[in-house]
Amino acid sequence: MDFQTFDFQPQIMSGIKAAGYLAPTPIQEQAIPAVLSGSDVMGLAQTGTGKTAAFALPILQRLSSGSKGHVRALVVAPTRELAEQIHESFTSLGQQTGLRSVTVYGGVSINPQIAKLKRGAEIVVACPGRLLDHLRQGTIDLSHLEVLVLDEADQMFDMGFFPEIRRILKHLPSKRQTLLFSATMPKEIRHLAHEVLHDAVTVQV
Ligand code: AMP
Repeated sequence: MDFQTFDFQPQIMSGIKAAGYLAPTPIQEQAIPAVLSGSDVMGLAQTGTGKTAAFALPILQRLSSGSKGHVRALVVAPTRELAEQIHESFTSLGQQTGLRSVTVYGGVSINPQIAKLKRGAEIVVACPGRLLDHLRQGTIDLSHLEVLVLDEADQMFDMGFFPEIRRILKHLPSKRQTLLFSATMPKEIRHLAHEVLHDAVTVQV
């Protein structure tokens, strides 16, 4: 299989080419068509499998059409390092799309994040605690959100983030596409999946 199969727009194909990706990885083969179709997705995959591009590419494709200037995709991740990596994937794969990604996490000053959000972004990659700070003080508007990704959900559970995740969910439009990625499937993740996913396609590597 190659990336032509997915009918990506030329600007997305040029991001794939620039990244040097020749063929989709197994998780990408399964997840990309499911995400493009608009389905909710439960992805069982570890880091290193190409799972970031598996959600980033179809999200970039979706966001390339439609309005700019509102946050339309939100990725929630457990650590700053992972949030930065995801942000960099969106930025490099989406370099020809004009879409803007902003990171939101704690341990750094909030003001530059507020300034970037004010200038406008279509994609936010966030850690739970700081995202809640922005939501509480009204410095992020998620009312136009179309796609939510919960990445490394088992890690977020282990780090005690589920209360924050559930509070974040209350701020999001209920009509949205939700993608849940986890390396393992303990009962806490199954419960969360049951709460947030509807008619989900399960992909697994
Ligand atoms: P991830 O599992 O998302 O952390 O990705 C692991 C690594 O694989 C990253 O360095 C990606 O840039 C790289 N990668 C993702 N998709 C592909 C692909 N289709 N071909 C080659 N490398 C890839």
